[in-house]
Amino acid sequence: MKIDFTTATFKDFENIPDYSIAQRAEYFYEFLDHMKERGHMTYRLENTSGSDALLNINIANQNKEYVSFVSSDYLGFTQHPKVKQAAIDGIEKYGTGTGASPLIGGYFDYHGALEKRISSFFGRNEDEVVLFTSGYNANSATLQILMQKEDIAILDMGVHASVHEGCAFTNKKTFPHNNLEALEQILRISEDKYRTKLVILDGIYSQEGDASRSSEIYDLVKKYNAYLMVDDAHGVGVLGETGRGALEDNGLLDKVDFITGTFSKTFGNLGGYVIANKKIASFLKFQSRQHIFSVTAPPSSLGIVKAIDLVDEEPFWKDKLWDNINYFKKGLNDLGLDTGITCSAIIPVKIGDQSKMWDIGRILIENGIYANPIMYPAVPRKDARIRMSVTARHEKEHLDKTLNVFDDINKKMHIAKK
Ligand code: PMP
Repeated sequence: MKIDFTTATFKDFENIPDYSIAQRAEYFYEFLDHMKERGHMTYRLENTSGSDALLNINIANQNKEYVSFVSSDYLGFTQHPKVKQAAIDGIEKYGTGTGASPLIGGYFDYHGALEKRISSFFGRNEDEVVLFTSGYNANSATLQILMQKEDIAILDMGVHASVHEGCAFTNKKTFPHNNLEALEQILRISEDKYRTKLVILDGIYSQEGDASRSSEIYDLVKKYNAYLMVDDAHGVGVLGETGRGALEDNGLLDKVDFITGTFSKTFGNLGGYVIANKKIASFLKFQSRQHIFSVTAPPSSLGIVKAIDLVDEEPFWKDKLWDNINYFKKGLNDLGLDTGITCSAIIPVKIGDQSKMWDIGRILIENGIYANPIMYPAVPRKDARIRMSVTARHEKEHLDKTLNVFDDINKKMHIAKK
């Protein structure tokens, strides 16, 4: 078995049928060396300062400052003094951990405060939410227990990996991204065949930054008597008049059956949540294996409660974020670069060819810019891109510096599409 290292992705090494685990690991190690030698290893770099617009990373024992576009801390709350203080207060009061999972001693009153705060943020009641250890867990755990072999999960092709993982015990069909005709066809043929039909979307798609056609999909879901789950990890705090996310924009906050999300992006921390009706929420609390057998939300999660408050108390962060998004996107487009159909803080610079993308990732690093090259399977093989996340912590000078570097790259490598 020979893998072409110049076109390979990490995924290609996941399983090689006639290779043992040791052989696969060794072959992958060789591939990582190949990437490092070419300066293409811009993944898993060591951050030595924090999540911010300017941060330090340590590459080959050289600790330098970079302008960063790798964080989903969209409003900059990981660095907000009030959020930090609330997290510290949580630790002062309760210690650093819970010592147990929620069912067997690890459910504290601050978990209740967090449940109350996140559910009221979405206009729901505190008994309509379940906390999980991560956003990944919230999706995979919920689907794993709710969706069984009698059911079918119908996924937009762009949904997060955690949703796919959640479908391990159920039937699964995917439809091309935002393609209503294809979705309707699956709903039609599934109508009498399955006990439960659940359609799953992202509010904002994580690699393209575009929105789901959730209003039209909601109508279809109702027509075929199905359920709708929306993971709005990247929309919350960024979209909607009051920052409630993509579902607020579409008037669907009180209509969809399940809202899932994360505390790791706009809310600057760690953890996930699922909002559902109170009986399903209760079912999840006592049936979801990940909720029963895994701890949730350490005391520093009181920082999350403050971060949620700040979405309302300090709306100017969202305004600044949008000034930055609009400025940066226009700057890239003025250079002729293709940023696709994004309508969020995720701005992909489309490159296409994977090895060209890796070269660009390296040149960005060499010029003090830290951004993620994204390859298959996160995106189709010929649709490699540099994925940039803009935050409220960026200043115009950071964005200008980055635009200048892209201008130089474009002059040398002709990446403009227009
Ligand atoms: N859903 C989406 C759409 C995401 O992009 C992510 C994070 N990449 C997750 C869920 C998982 O969230 P977490 O990092 O909190 O596990």
